[in-house]
Amino acid sequence: IWADVLGYVRKNISEVEYHTWFAPVKNLGVQEGSLVLGVRNSFAQEWFRKHYLELLEDALRSLGAQNPAVSFQVLPAVQEAMFMPQDAPPPPGPPPRSPSPAPFENRKSLNPKYTFENFVVGPNNNLAHAAALAVAESPGKAYNPLFIYGDVGLGKTHLMHAVGHYMMERFPGKRIEYVSTESFTNDLINAIRDDKMTLFRNRYRSVDLLLVDDIQFLAGKERTQEEFFHTFNALYENHKQIILSSDRPPRDIQTLEGRLRSRFEWGLITDIQSPEFETRVAILKMNAEHNRIDIPQDVLELIARQVTSNIRELEGALMRVVAFSSLNNVPFSRAVAAKALSNVFTPQEVKVEMIDVLRQVAAHFNMPQDVVRGAGRVREVVVPRQVAMYLIRELTSHSLPEIGQFFGRDHSTVMHAVSKVTEQMGKDTELTASVSSLRRRMQGLDEEEN
Ligand code: ADP
Ligand code: MG
Repeated sequence: IWADVLGYVRKNISEVEYHTWFAPVKNLGVQEGSLVLGVRNSFAQEWFRKHYLELLEDALRSLGAQNPAVSFQVLPAVQEAMFMPQDAPPPPGPPPRSPSPAPFENRKSLNPKYTFENFVVGPNNNLAHAAALAVAESPGKAYNPLFIYGDVGLGKTHLMHAVGHYMMERFPGKRIEYVSTESFTNDLINAIRDDKMTLFRNRYRSVDLLLVDDIQFLAGKERTQEEFFHTFNALYENHKQIILSSDRPPRDIQTLEGRLRSRFEWGLITDIQSPEFETRVAILKMNAEHNRIDIPQDVLELIARQVTSNIRELEGALMRVVAFSSLNNVPFSRAVAAKALSNVFTPQEVKVEMIDVLRQVAAHFNMPQDVVRGAGRVREVVVPRQVAMYLIRELTSHSLPEIGQFFGRDHSTVMHAVSKVTEQMGKDTELTASVSSLRRRMQGLDEEEN
């Protein structure tokens, strides 16, 4: 059953999260009715309890468990000192299906995290956001249906749930139904099989807000389209709000009946695009604050540079960095983040070379490069040299001895320089400004000075 559980889990979280957390887990079997999972340390144990217990219980429930229970055990220390994600296990088979689900059960409720407050608005999604808000404020009146489309992981489901939450709060007593197109289809199949069509129709036609996610999956399902057509009409005629999401606009959904397509186009069609850099950083920031993680801006920026298209992956990358630094007990830094993400994302950053750093530092302090690199011991040269060492340490992956060699010194000199600069930065604002402006310039970020 572990493979089935993993299959379920994998469908519900991002690839990155999956590899970070679930790939290293050992299945220790069932003890006293509880699935026991072996994790690497108490941090991971805590993390699982806090973040994945429910998901695992849901997984077991989907496999037919009545009272699912999961517990975690810390495995005895393993050989590797560093936490490193393992290679991906082979992809699990198709997601498990419950043997005989009763109709109307197993319905997803609204995710409490998916609210308007938690939705970062940027140029990529502001139209969809405004439309969703308008609909939430005057359901059935603003745009009906509201059709939101966009690639996976860009916030369609989040926005739909946000409307649901908003309406529940504003208009208590209103009936809200969120359903994926898949569940709608399954409900229909079950209702037909169990001769419960009346129940099915009552259920979907008596709501005030119907949210149907991933409507592109209606393609090719004639019976479901037929039924949905009637559901749509019943709701529409009664001025009930309908919100649909899809990965593409109605005209691009193949084998969708013309009468449905035209209905989807009656209201407002709006799209969500990939977020640009600023929005990605804002989303990461909100996530970090939400989870009470204190993580420097430049680290968030590094993450936002590496993960560019999908917000789910972006959140996964943040978690991965957090996990990596906690498990290795090192503070957040750009280098740590780069390392944590290196197995998952190909770095898209400009590669910084030692010689570039030297050149920039020398120019900044108005000094010839070989003087900075030379043997001089007066303060005017020592400070730039230490700053250069510090920045090389931070921005490149060269080891201390390699950096030492570059300056014709040994590794302890570099170490000393790094700690010296670190220490001084707390006190010396001019130095701090120099370092950060140099850093930004070298990362190609200086047009984004904050
Ligand atoms: P989709 O349904 O389009 O595939 P989701 O709604 O499931 O995408 O969003 C994926 C993840 O990204 C969710 O965790 C969601 O909360 C988050 N997310 C998406 N857009 C935003 C946003 N604008 N602000 C904050 N979080 C977002
Ligand atoms: Mg979705």
